[in-house]
Amino acid sequence: MTHIAIIGAGECGARAAFALREKGFGGEITLIGAEPHLPYERPPLSKDGLAQASLPKFIAGTARYEEARIAVLTGVTAESIDRVHKAVRLSDGESLDYDRLLLATGARPRAFPRVPENAGRIRTLRTHADALAIRGALTPGARLAVIGGGFIGLELAATARKLGAEVVLVEGLPRVLS
Ligand SMILES: Cc1cc2nc3c(=O)[nH]c(=O)nc-3n(C[C@H](O)[C@H](O)[C@H](O)COP(=O)(O)OP(=O)(O)OC[C@H]3O[C@@H](n4cnc5c(N)ncnc54)[C@H](O)[C@@H]3O)c2cc1C
Repeated sequence: MTHIAIIGAGECGARAAFALREKGFGGEITLIGAEPHLPYERPPLSKDGLAQASLPKFIAGTARYEEARIAVLTGVTAESIDRVHKAVRLSDGESLDYDRLLLATGARPRAFPRVPENAGRIRTLRTHADALAIRGALTPGARLAVIGGGFIGLELAATARKLGAEVVLVEGLPRVLS
């Protein structure tokens, strides 16, 4: 039986897995995700989700993955790919054989040189865990500097204001959202 492994259990990986079933693929599907949760939507993280939800907005619940026979590995990172033997080495020490491999590893915020990610009071906003940590720090009167005046930075700034924080937004280009 053909086995399709998908590295990255974000929106792309999850929707690709369901799309394979909808298009009639009958083989095995395994979704490999580094985060501890089932795949979830990131857009709410900078909006009301930052302010309200203690759980992420899941793309589907466990039952739907089971019905669709999609195996989901959470909290597991794909560490290397052996293309000769068609196997993925996983962070839990296991090795997963595949026939086809989809890389759905997504995007990450641009890091600053010599500044460790998520150290002390500095956070990036990408995951549900990031959103929870940021929300915890946004008490009334807290001071927040947001670096980046794109959609996510502006949404975060607006949410922080709603929570009573003082916000300074820094954008390198002449205008925000340019
Ligand atoms: C705060 C925020 C707000 C957003 N708001 C909007 C919006 O309003 N509208 C909109 O259209 N888009 C929005 N986006 C963008 C949207 O969320 C992304 O386009 C979308 O998440 C991309 O999905 P993806 O599956 O390609 O990648 P990702 O969401 O980055 O998912 C990739 C997944 O792969 C995992 N992964 C990576 N490498 C490995 C590995 N080696 N092994 C195992 N797992 C791995 C990662 O942990 C991650 O969970 C927002 C994004 C953020 C962060």
